[in-house]
Amino acid sequence: MRAKVKPRLDWIQVLNEQSEWRQIEDVKKWFELLLGRKVQVTDAVLKAFDLDLCRLRQLVYDHHFQRTLDLSWLEERLQSIRFAFHAEPEKNKLPSFRACAAGDDDSSLLVSVSDTLIHQCAQFVSDYFLKNDGADLCRCQGLYRDQNALNTSVLPAVPVTEEILWRQELAVLVEKNLQEEAQIQRCADLFVGDSRSRFCSDACRFSTFQIIKQLQDPAYLAEKQKRYRQKKES
Ligand SMILES: [Zn+2]
Repeated sequence: MRAKVKPRLDWIQVLNEQSEWRQIEDVKKWFELLLGRKVQVTDAVLKAFDLDLCRLRQLVYDHHFQRTLDLSWLEERLQSIRFAFHAEPEKNKLPSFRACAAGDDDSSLLVSVSDTLIHQCAQFVSDYFLKNDGADLCRCQGLYRDQNALNTSVLPAVPVTEEILWRQELAVLVEKNLQEEAQIQRCADLFVGDSRSRFCSDACRFSTFQIIKQLQDPAYLAEKQKRYRQKKES
């Protein structure tokens, strides 16, 4: 049996992680998990990393909504990136073939991680976005409830104007008053699929089924609980 090939650092997975970040400390925690140790990075570098990811995400969104892709920023960054194999004395999740860091410090290392992800994204844009060969980067159509949805995040991965467009894609969110149902969120996860792909996971599929049922019939959950109690009592 062949093992599933999984890259150690994957730009799509990192964008999915990013959608969970609420504050600058979350970026640092992610970087520490990647390296398997504590890091010393300034907030400015952490913010710049987050901004790089936002730019990659914007390319995905522009492609999805069939806007002209502005690749100038990507091309400019790629010009200064140099790749090499790295010996790994420490146990971490970095690929050994990656962008070179300008210095030995953690901040330089994070910039090199960013460069590596930018390179991966450029490869994907070349292979799929510019070829239009059927494979696509889909955004999950899953719904979930988030009671903290109205609390503002310091690091919103998805700009509000973009999020409105993504919400408008889902009939169930259009039918309902968007403001009223603000705690119902669309899953921000991206995954490689085709035009029929809908969910990033079974958990999303299940949660969406429950929410749609409940929106169509507000008594659904109460009824379900009642049936469950009756079953237990009998
Ligand atoms: Zn999902």
